[in-house]
Amino acid sequence: MPNLRQRFYVEDCPVRGEVVHVEDALQTILAQKDYPQAIQVLLGEMLTATALLASTLKIKGRISLQIQAQGSFKWAMAECNHLGQIRGLADFEADPRFEQATNSSTVFATLVQPVLFINIEPEFGERYQGIVPLDKPTLAQCLMQYYDLSAQIPTQITLASTPQRAGGLLIQLLPRNNEEEQNFVDEDLWPRLKMLTETLKPEELTDLEANEILYRLYNEEDIRLPEPEPLEFACTCSREKCETALVQIGVDAVKETLEIQNPITMDCQFCNAQYRFTAEQALGLFGEHLS
Ligand SMILES: [Zn+2]
Repeated sequence: MPNLRQRFYVEDCPVRGEVVHVEDALQTILAQKDYPQAIQVLLGEMLTATALLASTLKIKGRISLQIQAQGSFKWAMAECNHLGQIRGLADFEADPRFEQATNSSTVFATLVQPVLFINIEPEFGERYQGIVPLDKPTLAQCLMQYYDLSAQIPTQITLASTPQRAGGLLIQLLPRNNEEEQNFVDEDLWPRLKMLTETLKPEELTDLEANEILYRLYNEEDIRLPEPEPLEFACTCSREKCETALVQIGVDAVKETLEIQNPITMDCQFCNAQYRFTAEQALGLFGEHLS
């Protein structure tokens, strides 16, 4: 399975983790636009990071990461929902520094006043937005800092991407429910797991299969693996959403648009789908007819 998330547990320990690989879904996303290598690897890391974060949520809905900056890099976003559907997109101006990057730290060094937004949108219930300062050299380090400060759950994250394949690993020490549970905890467990996780090389994370990575890192531990779950590229655009957007801009703006573009065409940049509205269809949304 080229796109998957593999959860893992350390038996009898308050630890859970996830390995994520994105391969042909990454190819599909990168094929939508002519991205330089730096943006390709950043999108790869953002997509795996989003899938890792989604796996820590217990809600139905979606989570997205969005980086905004000034300068030649404008923004990038990646999104994953509870079904494992992912998509991503970035906007930038040509910059020679984007041509020779091998990991997100090379891109990060070019960002001017960058900010990372974490958006959680449950199907039901309130939306959440977290703002993460991008003041560490890699995306993984910025996300770890976020967990430290906001959730206070010890979390280790490793991300790596090439234009072909992206990989990510997250491991978390879960809070204990009570003192009794605390008494059973091996105090050395987390420092040991953290140290082992840090030995993983970027090329191992992208190239090895999930179970090989877990064996390579934690073969001394008793690791339990549930069935892996698939990830896939999918876009959430639809004709209905385009109709809603037209209704929102209002009948006057639609009439003005029709004067320069008839039929109105709306392109989805995530998947290159094109939605076309003839004058009759566009005006029909407002109960008006062609005069
Ligand atoms: Zn789309």
